[in-house]
Amino acid sequence: MDYLPVFLNLRDQQVLVVGGGAVAARKVEMLLKAHARVRVVAPRLHPELSLYRDAGRIDYLPAAFEPQHFDGAIFAIAATDRVEVNHAVAAQGAARGIFVNVVDDTSASSAVMPAIVDRSPLVVAIGSSGQSPTLARRVRAQLEALLPERLGELVRLAGAARERVQRALPDIDQRRQFWDRLFAGSIASKVYAGDLRAAGALLDDELRAAADGAPRRRGEVYLIGAGPGDPDLLTLRALQLLQQSDVVLYDRLVSDAVLERVRRDAERIFVGKQSGSHRVTQERIHALLLDYAGRGLRVARLKGGDPFIFGRGGEELDLLRRAGIPVIVVPGITAALGAAASAALPLTQRGVAPSVTFVTATGEGAEALDWRALAAPLQTVVFYMGVAQLPRIVELLRAHGAPAGHPVAIVEQATLPGQRVVGGCLADICAQAQQAQVIAPALLIVGEVARRAAQSTHLVQVLALQGAVNA
Ligand code: SAH
Repeated sequence: MDYLPVFLNLRDQQVLVVGGGAVAARKVEMLLKAHARVRVVAPRLHPELSLYRDAGRIDYLPAAFEPQHFDGAIFAIAATDRVEVNHAVAAQGAARGIFVNVVDDTSASSAVMPAIVDRSPLVVAIGSSGQSPTLARRVRAQLEALLPERLGELVRLAGAARERVQRALPDIDQRRQFWDRLFAGSIASKVYAGDLRAAGALLDDELRAAADGAPRRRGEVYLIGAGPGDPDLLTLRALQLLQQSDVVLYDRLVSDAVLERVRRDAERIFVGKQSGSHRVTQERIHALLLDYAGRGLRVARLKGGDPFIFGRGGEELDLLRRAGIPVIVVPGITAALGAAASAALPLTQRGVAPSVTFVTATGEGAEALDWRALAAPLQTVVFYMGVAQLPRIVELLRAHGAPAGHPVAIVEQATLPGQRVVGGCLADICAQAQQAQVIAPALLIVGEVARRAAQSTHLVQVLALQGAVNA
């Protein structure tokens, strides 16, 4: 390894930047963020740099590079578009024992700038020893997704509590364990979710318990929406929490591809309720949640779509709150939104569908619905859990005034590799569904916007026909 990563403290230090273009401007911006004193040497200035000059934030020398421009500098960046100038800067720096970064030219540089993930005060630097800056940037993008946006706030919280923790826990091993627990548990999750006050209160609590010699592992539950199936539709927070969970209780609707994103050594427990044969009851799920969290584990309760849309997430939230177990709710892309996007059916549309309603038509819930309102024109209605009830839904909509030609679409396995869209109208959708052998999970989208599905289904048929003719 020829490179040693070092963080330079540039506050009030003189840094030389040779070059006045857009590239130099990016570098100057970074240096100013680090509170360096920046001297820019260039015959001309990029407009952004002119602003910095006018605001007195940089020293500008309108000149060609000369060795004496190094005077007082402890670091330099060569960012001109002329190789010979950049090399002259590098040579002069070397002669004076000053590190020089030549932008995009590793072999001429005595210092290379890493790609960074900035969660100040925490900063991650990524370098490829100049071999592949593009790959380094890719790694950076991956880390960006992995590291919570508010990680820096957690660092600040820990920094502010450091002395108190030192006093409360003089033993270094105990202290280390305390921090480990803190960074992996509910205090960190609260910070990430933006609830600094709750995090502060939990920290006080933990510190008191630790000082009393009774440290405890506090369990917590994440009610996570897994989205409609495509793992790329998970939120970043869902991914982050799945990576730190000890146990995952997941539903039937959670796809294998999503489960792949769970921490490798987490325990996975299937708690799906098969419609008809209720394999795991809601009471059993409640008992499992209380049991695992009570043992101090971090439990992910992973549900298809969004936990608060026909997901019984509210009941689980109430239960956990009553038991005093910290809960974090992570929204997910609900099936209606996933299906709308992947079947290209906008759920609202000017003049055609000014409103959208999500309903479920199973069981006793169906009786309570206002069918007259659902059958009215100028709106979109999305029925969840509707396939088995399809004939009844059609009958009720017709009975309440919807015309036979009212457009309907069924989206099966939305966002998953097997996705299918069946388009039709109230008069023929039952026959179509039967012919296509639609199975769960599927959504029913009713209203003018569904006409597009009928058209695209038609188009697919036409194309298939053409294909047959051409062959
Ligand atoms: N909480 C979930 C809904 C649970 S109810 C959410 O927000 O999406 C279960 C119903 O959701 C299924 O019967 C089906 O109607 C619908 N559904 C869930 N995932 C789906 C998918 N990938 N494609 C089509 N429908 C889906």
